[in-house]
Amino acid sequence: MPARPSPARFATRLRCLRCGTEHALDLRASLCSVCSTDGIDHGVLDVLYDLEAAARALRTAPADPRSDVFRWAPVLPVDAPPVTLWAGGTPLIAAPRLAHSLGIAELWLKDDTRNPTRSLKDRATAIAMAIAHELRASAVYCASQGNAAISLAGFAAQAGLECHVYVPATASETRLRWLRRYGAQVHVVDGTYDEAYAEAEAEGAANGWYSRNCAFNPFLVEGKKTVAWEIREQLGGVPDVLVAPVGDGCTLAAIGKGFREMRDSGVTKRLPRLIGVQSDTMAPLVSRFTAGTGVGAGAGAQDASGASTTSRRRAGTHAHQSRASSILVGRPRNALRLFAELRESAGELVAVDDTAIERAEDGLAREAGVICEFTTAAGIAGLREIAEREPLAKARVVAVLTGGRVDVV
Ligand SMILES: *Cc1c(COP(=O)(O)O)cnc(C)c1O
Ligand SMILES: [Zn+2]
Repeated sequence: MPARPSPARFATRLRCLRCGTEHALDLRASLCSVCSTDGIDHGVLDVLYDLEAAARALRTAPADPRSDVFRWAPVLPVDAPPVTLWAGGTPLIAAPRLAHSLGIAELWLKDDTRNPTRSLKDRATAIAMAIAHELRASAVYCASQGNAAISLAGFAAQAGLECHVYVPATASETRLRWLRRYGAQVHVVDGTYDEAYAEAEAEGAANGWYSRNCAFNPFLVEGKKTVAWEIREQLGGVPDVLVAPVGDGCTLAAIGKGFREMRDSGVTKRLPRLIGVQSDTMAPLVSRFTAGTGVGAGAGAQDASGASTTSRRRAGTHAHQSRASSILVGRPRNALRLFAELRESAGELVAVDDTAIERAEDGLAREAGVICEFTTAAGIAGLREIAEREPLAKARVVAVLTGGRVDVV
C-alpha cells in the first residue's frame, strides 16, 4: 500500500471554547489549562485545521478503498491505527412514507445503528483508539453506563488493549452483560455517574491509561463529525434540516462542526439548520438555550434538576424518568460547543415526552422499516413537533439514527 500523507499536518492548533486561548496541538490534551474549573462550563478544547489545504487534499486524494471514518483523514487529528473495527460509512436511507406522515417533503435516515457496537459512539471511539495506539497507551478507560463504554469495550477487544469501564451501581444488567461479553474490566462504583466519573479520572491518571471520557477529550468529536461529511456526499449536497437526540451535546455539535468546516473550506455554501431533541424529564440544554443564556462561562444558572424557570412548564413537572436513557444527562459537558453550532445554523432545541417518542418509535418501524434504540426515536418525535409548528413541506431533512441496541435500558 502506498504511504498516506499524515493528516496531522492539517490539524494546526487547539482553541478553548470557553476563553478562546489557543494551545499547541498535543494528542495528550484534555481541558484548557488556562480556564478554571468552576462554573457549569469547562474549558473544552476545539481542534483547528488548515481547512483549505485539508479540503484540497480530500479533493485530490487517490481513490481510497476505505469507507470508514479514516477516509476523512485530512480533517482528522490522527492517522488510522493498523487495527480498527470499521466505524462509519453507514447508509443514508430514504423514508418517503414516514416523511409523508410527518408532512415533510424529503426525509433521509442516516443509519448509524449499523456501526460495530450499534451506535454512533463508535466513530468517536475509533479516534480514541487511534490516539491510544499513537501514544502507546497500556490501557483505555471511560466512565459511562451506556453506549460509550460498550463501544470502547468492543474496540479494545479487537485491538487487544486492556479496557476499564467505570459504571454507577444503577447500571442495568443488560449493559453490564454487553461490557463483560467484550471482556472489559468493569468497575462498579457505589455511587452516582458523577462519582464513577471522578473515580475513573483518578485511577486513569494514576495508571497512565488513555481516557475516552466525553467532551473533556477534545478529539472525540472529530470522529463524530464524519457523519456530516458522509451525508453531504450521499445526498449530493447539504440538507435543509438535520435532527438528532441530544444528551451531552457532543454528537449534534460535532455534526454541526463538520458542515461548518465544509462551508468554511468552500466545499459547500450553506449549513443545515440543526435541531436537537432532549427528553422533557431532563432537558437542561433546552432550558438554557431557550433562555438565551448560552453565552460565556457560568451563564444560565440551573437548579438541581437542570431546569430553569422558562421551561419548568415543560421540563420540570415530571417525577418519572424517561426511557430515553442515552440522553438523560443532568450536567451536560459540551453545552458551549453545541450552543455555538446552534447559533451559527439558526438551529434550536426541543423537548419531547415518552408518549411522543413511543409514537415515533412506532412510525420508524411501520413506515420506515427501522427498529432502533428508544433514545434514537426521540429525534423523530422532535421532528414531528417542529413539523406541526411550521411548514416543512419543501424541506429536505436528515434524521440521524444514533443507536440501535433495542435492549438498552
Ligand atoms: C450518546 C447518545 C446520544 C447523544 O449524544 P450526546 O453527544 O450525549 O449529545 C444520542 N443517542 C444515542 C443512542 C447515544 O448513545
Ligand atoms: Zn480556556
